[in-house]
Amino acid sequence: EEGVMPRGQRCALEWIRSGKKHLLIGGQWVAAASGKTFETINPATEEVLTRVAEADSHDVDTAVAAARRAFEAPSWSGISPHERALYLLRIAEGIEAHAEELAAIESLDIGAPLSFTRGQVAATAERFRYYAGWTSKIHGTTNASDASRFIYMVREPMGVCALINAWNFPLVMAASKLAPALACGNTMVLKPAEQSPLTTLRLGELIQEAGVPAGVVNIVQGHGAIVGAAMAGHPDVDKIAFTGSTAVGRSIVQASAGNMKKATLELGGKSPNIIFPDADLEQAIKASALAFCRNSGQICSAGTRLLVHESVYDQVAAGVVATASVFKVGSPFALDTDLGPLISARQMDRVLAYIDTGKKEGAELMLGGSRVGEVGFFVEPTVFANVTNEMTIAREEIFGPVLSIISFKDEADAIAQANDTPYGLAAAVWTRDVSRAHRMMRAIKSGRVWINTYAEGDPVMAIGGYKQSGYGREMGAESIDAYTQTKSVLMRL
Ligand code: NAD
Repeated sequence: EEGVMPRGQRCALEWIRSGKKHLLIGGQWVAAASGKTFETINPATEEVLTRVAEADSHDVDTAVAAARRAFEAPSWSGISPHERALYLLRIAEGIEAHAEELAAIESLDIGAPLSFTRGQVAATAERFRYYAGWTSKIHGTTNASDASRFIYMVREPMGVCALINAWNFPLVMAASKLAPALACGNTMVLKPAEQSPLTTLRLGELIQEAGVPAGVVNIVQGHGAIVGAAMAGHPDVDKIAFTGSTAVGRSIVQASAGNMKKATLELGGKSPNIIFPDADLEQAIKASALAFCRNSGQICSAGTRLLVHESVYDQVAAGVVATASVFKVGSPFALDTDLGPLISARQMDRVLAYIDTGKKEGAELMLGGSRVGEVGFFVEPTVFANVTNEMTIAREEIFGPVLSIISFKDEADAIAQANDTPYGLAAAVWTRDVSRAHRMMRAIKSGRVWINTYAEGDPVMAIGGYKQSGYGREMGAESIDAYTQTKSVLMRL
């Protein structure tokens, strides 16, 4: 089959098989101090793709020391913002020059369809470009004062940043942290998730090729409880940015308290997607099916609670079921695939267990509910109707293609149910009534609200959580705040 493979996929396999997948520390690719490695698996075939170096706390120490040296070095701290922008632009160009290869590596490592990972690669390059534009627009302020004093504020980088990512879309997540951190003049140690380290390592090579000075970006892949915990507790790390589960987020906050690291946390979600009877129902139905199926539901902001007004409940439920029932589950490399596998056997078992719980708690299974095939971690799009907001499947983040459809009576009921969750990451409202759209937007407690669309993004839009979906924001101008600190100055004249 490899003989007839498109070039991008061939390049991806060649890269995966070429050379050792080491750690990037101080500008060099090095084996872990312990010499240990771990496997990364293709979730569509369950085959081992390759082995990568497995860092531990010793490697974290070495990487943090390299990042500290790079932070103090004039080759990074002394350069102009315009020069910094050129690095980011060259990284974006490198990503685009290897777009098909990167998309294929991502599809091999996380199982998502090529149609999805191609979009992810484009979004990754876009993020580096967007923050390249920011480097020369990072401002302090000058304050009003009497004639004998001069008062101003300068904005400075945080220093050494620890960046820890989840497995579900590694490239975009890496860019969301690396690009603003670089734009603001920080240095960093990045840990991809152990389930999907490969595109982050390939990105590390492209960052080197873009000429970024040694030690500015270091990459240490390994297990969360060892490497991630060492990063979170490290006394010489100034800032930590974490994307992952709320449970681990809590432990990050505790570990980071030792030296009062500045922390931003992008955590889980259970996002309400709310359809009023006056919406464009055809559009709403189409988007709502995609909202819980994209990346097989492994998206923090997936629309997993579909709240539908009782007057159109049956129509919308039937429409979503009809739309999702023709989604193709299969190989990430088949062009008509809509859903690839889940990331791991563990994740698949977890999702199937939630489906069982849904049935036991009395929800009505309208679509799917099972594993597909015996090889690979594929699960069908699964829709439950007659769900109440108290049921486990409506409360807990499943991180699989499982939808709960819940009915509401009126606007107040929709707001109450939408906000009745420990999470607050994203929400959507479908209505043609402009006033209602604004009322709902204000009433919903979440960091992002879509109106008459779902899951559309733009680098200018920050993401982040209300409540237990985290704190701080990522992307947009807010990331500039997150990767800088301010210094107020008073000079007596
Ligand atoms: P996870 O919390 O298990 O792991 C995330 C990262 O933390 C991994 O790199 C892991 O190795 C590391 N880690 C694990 N234990 C650690 C510890 N004790 N100390 C430090 N680091 C540790 O999450 P996951 O299962 O990889 O990802 C799924 C979760 O991520 C979901 O909850 C999802 O909603 C969330 N997520 C959030 C966003 C967002 O922007 N809000 C985006 C994507 C994913």
